[in-house]
Amino acid sequence: MIDIDNLNIKNILEHAHIGVIIHRADTSVVYANPAAIKLLNLSYDQLIGKDAYDPQWAFVDENGLPLEHNSYPVNQVLNSKQRIENKTIGLIDHTSKDIAWFMVNAYMEGHEGAKNCFIVVTFSDITERVKPFSAEDILENAQDIIIVTEADNIDYPEGPKIVYVNRAFEKLTGYTKDEVIGESPRILQGSLTDKEARKSIYQALRKKQSVSQTLLNYDKCGRPYWIDMNIIPLKNNSGQVTHFAAIERDISQIKFHQEQLANRNNDLKALKANLEKRVRERTLSLQQAKTQLESMAYFDPLTQLPNRRFFSIHLSKLIAAAKRRKEMIALGLIDIDNFKSVNDTFGHNAGDEILKKVAEIISDLFRHEDAICRYGGEEFAFSIMISQKDQAEQACDRLIQAIRDKQYQLEETNLTITASIGVFTTLAENIDNEHELFRNADSLMYKAKQDGKNRYYID
Ligand code: GH3
Ligand code: MG
Ligand code: MG
Repeated sequence: MIDIDNLNIKNILEHAHIGVIIHRADTSVVYANPAAIKLLNLSYDQLIGKDAYDPQWAFVDENGLPLEHNSYPVNQVLNSKQRIENKTIGLIDHTSKDIAWFMVNAYMEGHEGAKNCFIVVTFSDITERVKPFSAEDILENAQDIIIVTEADNIDYPEGPKIVYVNRAFEKLTGYTKDEVIGESPRILQGSLTDKEARKSIYQALRKKQSVSQTLLNYDKCGRPYWIDMNIIPLKNNSGQVTHFAAIERDISQIKFHQEQLANRNNDLKALKANLEKRVRERTLSLQQAKTQLESMAYFDPLTQLPNRRFFSIHLSKLIAAAKRRKEMIALGLIDIDNFKSVNDTFGHNAGDEILKKVAEIISDLFRHEDAICRYGGEEFAFSIMISQKDQAEQACDRLIQAIRDKQYQLEETNLTITASIGVFTTLAENIDNEHELFRNADSLMYKAKQDGKNRYYID
């Protein structure tokens, strides 16, 4: 028979997996077993003799908020004279700044005031239990799109600021995280986005309520897609709504099939009269939507550059962004010099090939966020957000040079061409009417033509 009273208790503590720290009544540490030293990631010297007020302790409560001195286990036992059972406490690691989570028990051994009064604190590591998996991993690998915005400043023109998007968002929209963080989800909306749906979302956000909607959005290249979205308010620890999370699913395919089904239904004449009427109405509205979508051809078939319609939408977005950032807008019109004579000499097909090459030059010189288009026959337009006028000058220098330098091998001739450019710049906040930008750029371009072509004028 083993006599329990004769067991070497200290030896047991030295081999235990649970951390044990013994404090004196003045809170200084008199003993820490090896498990405690390992779990707290401190050295023996860092522990022994240190009291509860030593600045090395950085405890947090279950919510990650700093723990007050009075709530440290040893102080709590001293103050309340009660034992602590299974309390969750986090310790911020002094090197990595990670939080390690502990389940803590503490009690007083002996009587307060007596010479042999100690506070015994035992603890085990529950970090794995508190955080068994990464929520971030789940968000990043979800098939649904997730957008998190701030909950304030939801009004036009700002709109709620995006603080997080997942990978599915980047894949569907073509925007990278860096491009959209700080912007508002409004950049995804466009001319055919339903105003009523938008309004119902806005009203729910105002009231900080959740909302579900189906909405037409546009990707970075202006291609439309349908999404089903649920927006939910997110609260902080004090119960205030600080963010919204939108969980969205691309349902363009489903919409497309719905449309086809409705078209086929139209042929089922045997349906009852009122059913027929409803189907007819539905088909009509879907056909209208389809026609509208078809008319949204946004790219010029010859050069593959955006066309005027797309340019105008992109320009409006650019102006809105420049207004928010208090920046300037530059709008340029490029007209190829003497292009008629190129056609007359080498034929219309050769002219077409040159237009394609000029379009390539233009699209290579501008960034994705800049607006460019084939404006008309042998005319192109661009618009950029700038801080100073000389940024527009640099763009023109590069453009006029690149157009001038390109050689076209036609029959026996090595042909080069030139262009004339007019650029109008203004502070975005002064823009009331986009037509005025075009008129001003056009008269500057006209002046460049009159003064001998192959040059640019900027105002
Ligand atoms: P300027 O220097 O004054 O601009 O002279 P220009 O000959 O370029 O100007 P004008 O406006 O008189 O003629 C433009 C010509 O561009 C007319 C047409 O032959 C040609 N053009 C317009 N669109 C196309 C097109 O799609 N393909 C081809 N090949 N030529 C085109
Ligand atoms: Mg012209
Ligand atoms: Mg011309």
